[in-house]
Amino acid sequence: MSKLPETLDPADWETHRAVAHQMVDDAIDYIRDVRSRPVWQDMPPQVREQFRKGLSHEGMPLPNVYQQVMTEVFPFPMGNIHPRFWMWYMGASNFTGAMGDFLAAILGSNLGGGDHAAAEIDKQVIGWMKEMIGYPAEASGTLVSGGSMANLIGLTVARNVMSGIDLRNEGIGALSAPMRFYGSDQVHSCHRIAVEAMGLGNNALRRIPSDADCRMDLAALRTAITEDRASGLHPACVIATAGTVNTGAIDDLAAIADLCAEEGLWMHVDGCIGGLLAIAPKGRAMVNGIARADSIAIDPHKWLHAPFEVGCALVKDADAHLRTFTVTPEYLEAAPRGIASGAWLHDFGLQTSRGFRALKVWMALKEHGLAKFGRLIDQDLDHACYLSDRIIATPNLELCFPGVINIVCFRYDPGGLSEEALKRLNTEIMVRMQETGIAAVSDTTVRGRHCLRAAINNHRTLPSDLDMLTGEVVRLGEILAQNTRMKKG
Ligand SMILES: *Cc1c(COP(=O)(O)O)cnc(C)c1O
Repeated sequence: MSKLPETLDPADWETHRAVAHQMVDDAIDYIRDVRSRPVWQDMPPQVREQFRKGLSHEGMPLPNVYQQVMTEVFPFPMGNIHPRFWMWYMGASNFTGAMGDFLAAILGSNLGGGDHAAAEIDKQVIGWMKEMIGYPAEASGTLVSGGSMANLIGLTVARNVMSGIDLRNEGIGALSAPMRFYGSDQVHSCHRIAVEAMGLGNNALRRIPSDADCRMDLAALRTAITEDRASGLHPACVIATAGTVNTGAIDDLAAIADLCAEEGLWMHVDGCIGGLLAIAPKGRAMVNGIARADSIAIDPHKWLHAPFEVGCALVKDADAHLRTFTVTPEYLEAAPRGIASGAWLHDFGLQTSRGFRALKVWMALKEHGLAKFGRLIDQDLDHACYLSDRIIATPNLELCFPGVINIVCFRYDPGGLSEEALKRLNTEIMVRMQETGIAAVSDTTVRGRHCLRAAINNHRTLPSDLDMLTGEVVRLGEILAQNTRMKKG
């Protein structure tokens, strides 16, 4: 051969070293100074244009690529690492976790299986998750992309175990009666996708009315199960939510565990929001009974603030978990020794290749310790109480729902406006706060009333940030309500 073979490695490592050092320096500044920037800002058209361009055949030097990232990507984030981001329900990430993702990518390992240190860490983190929830060491689990996938894993095991047939081979067409899953009317939308993807259909997920506290009404659940049995359906699984996405309500886990035991049903807990209350000194009591579940979904990229993505599915009966997903094609047969002698981690879910998402969780837990993560959860609960108190004490602000955890539903109501006009007004307040980059909250409808929603799942938030939120809502509310009146008059 006349030419050297090509490689993706740089011809000159020193240039790459310098750029990489610059990236780390910039990254540290970026996180350190996050408070001084807007939460979010709209992209100018010339920036957006850059992202519509086609593929280029020739490359450019890494410093130029990096330059583009710094000027066109970093100024325009979603905003969830900012101290005043309380929109939807996310974590705020953390620097150590981010370095974990970087190092995991440097190692570049595939966590589908094999005997190597990364695979050991994956299993260790699963073990730690079990400890956090109070699950037995013999239980099994897997790290997945997020809570939606973790719920799908748990519900799929439930479906297969409860089907009473060889569902893997025969499929749902062989079921003697349609299976029924139950969740409250507050259940997260991912469960609908799950039952649809599992071939059971959306109607297989019966929504049980929630009570005045937005918790599943257990009398209604009992009635539904009895009705379904009477009409020839097959009640299989109750999905209890530990922390609903709307208001943070926590279903009565202990009572649902009793009911499932009596009725012979699988109990799955969607703990994506509140499951980790189990590690918080003050929050712990709210999720009593969680460890009685047959399967649990938790979401480290929420209350453990791991960088996206990482979710975790836990299944108490490890054998049932394995039986649901294990496959050993000839190209994946285990060897007596060497790389292929390790456990197949792909046997616990839908992916074959898996990333080393455990490292970011492992490193942050090592650095900070479990106790600190528990205290941070309690701190969010305290912040939610603080915000609720401020709302109650502020004229024209209304607390729409008495929160139990870290979700606060409220609105600006100057009086004399219809529900429709209030929705328009509050939506405009929400959007303006985002556009000016001051704060990000979302909105929802609780018990028929539109409200703004602050999910304080953020280790950077200070009480003064919450003061700024109430101040800004009132300030914008006054201006906008004034305009409305002027238009009318
Ligand atoms: C966030 C959430 C999910 C989905 O989790 P992802 O990590 O976004 O996939 C499921 N259930 C509840 C209650 C959630 O809050």
